[in-house]
Amino acid sequence: MRIARYIGVAALSLAGAGEASANSMVTHVWVAEQSIARVEGPLRDIVGDPALRAVIQNGAIYPDSGYSVRADYGEWAHWESFLEPYLQWIRARYQAENYRSPDARRHVAFLMGNAAHSMTDQTFDQYFVERVRQYDRTDANDLDVGSDTWLIVEHNVTSAADGAFWFDEMPGIHMAVNGPPVTPELLRRAAGLTAGATQWLPRIAHTLYALRWRQMPWGGSHYMDPATPGSYPQIVSATAAYWSFLWQRLQNAAPADAAPLYSWPAPSQTNFPVDRNDIESRIVVTTAWGLDDATVSAATVRVIGPDESVVPARVSRYGSEGNTVMVRTDGDLAFNTAYRVELAGTIRAYRGAPIGRALTIPFRTRCAPDRLADCPALPVPLPTLADPPVSNPQPPEGMDAGTGTVVMVDDAGLPTKPPMSRPAASSEGGCSAGRRSDAGVSALAMLAVCAAALRRRSKRG
Ligand SMILES: [Zn+2]
Repeated sequence: MRIARYIGVAALSLAGAGEASANSMVTHVWVAEQSIARVEGPLRDIVGDPALRAVIQNGAIYPDSGYSVRADYGEWAHWESFLEPYLQWIRARYQAENYRSPDARRHVAFLMGNAAHSMTDQTFDQYFVERVRQYDRTDANDLDVGSDTWLIVEHNVTSAADGAFWFDEMPGIHMAVNGPPVTPELLRRAAGLTAGATQWLPRIAHTLYALRWRQMPWGGSHYMDPATPGSYPQIVSATAAYWSFLWQRLQNAAPADAAPLYSWPAPSQTNFPVDRNDIESRIVVTTAWGLDDATVSAATVRVIGPDESVVPARVSRYGSEGNTVMVRTDGDLAFNTAYRVELAGTIRAYRGAPIGRALTIPFRTRCAPDRLADCPALPVPLPTLADPPVSNPQPPEGMDAGTGTVVMVDDAGLPTKPPMSRPAASSEGGCSAGRRSDAGVSALAMLAVCAAALRRRSKRG
């Protein structure tokens, strides 16, 4: 998720700062680009325009750029707190011409890139990262950069995002949508840090690749698995669905009661686990609209079982006016029983209308171990808390250390080669340049030390 992770990774790869995980920039750009082929019609014409590729890429790194300079806009730009008012700003100007002008197209492209970042963080964090925590018995704090290195090494992915954030125009947009103020200078600095580190990561990816693989073998062997919740293929699907819905919103044609984009359980899923401590029994719903936080609670998001009984549960949110709701029941569910997750019609879209009708996701729990024949057969055994999935503890053959460029890390754990970007001003938020005095320590490495303090903490479900 954060630029700071890139810079910090070489310097702090062994440091166990207790912050959230999410995705790093190579993943963000990759998801946005993969999503292009998954949408159709006029939107495809815009996001598929090669002339707008850089705009989408920069939209996809924009939210985390705010973290690199410790600016409030970073967190704000992660969620519908930015996306919804920006979308309305675009619509007010360009809907009449149906988004045909160059200006309209570039704003739509930036919106989609930024939205891809938002959806990726939400989906990865709440569906995938939580599983890595359980199956790999790790805090997963190194997963964001780790999965970037897996993507780079195993799939030859890099990022060309240049960080050109419309430095002179963007401050006015922030002001127009009542966002945190920014200046061209601040954005230039954020751009240099973010794009520089994004382009730098491939240089150190091989150094970290196997380390992160062995640290998180379940993560390494499942992040690209289409059947695993929150895996990269599922993130791309969720992002493409989000883009299509945002396009409907740009037409002012999006239904208030739109079905969730993605959920665990999926609608009508069977064999849903019952053990409340099993990560597989944790319910996550990704809605098409950003939801008004004030209207989301255990009273409006419920799990309903036999005889319309409400299952006591804890409801959590992720992000500011985000699209993700997490539900954890207080106790175990019953075997082979029909339940449903229900979002009440009184829940409102952020700055929008009530959903208007209950959105339900029906599902059925798995059968008791001695009654498995009563349930649909499973293609592969379900992982459970007591019977965790078996992962290959080694990276794939031929992918171990020793391939590609290796950047040496010195004894102090700091990178010996700085990237090309200009580091942040040393006065930023208490990250004093005097914190380390080694003559050989680059200003970037200094930033890496500061980076540990910049990371966003996630809300846990
Ligand atoms: Zn992020």
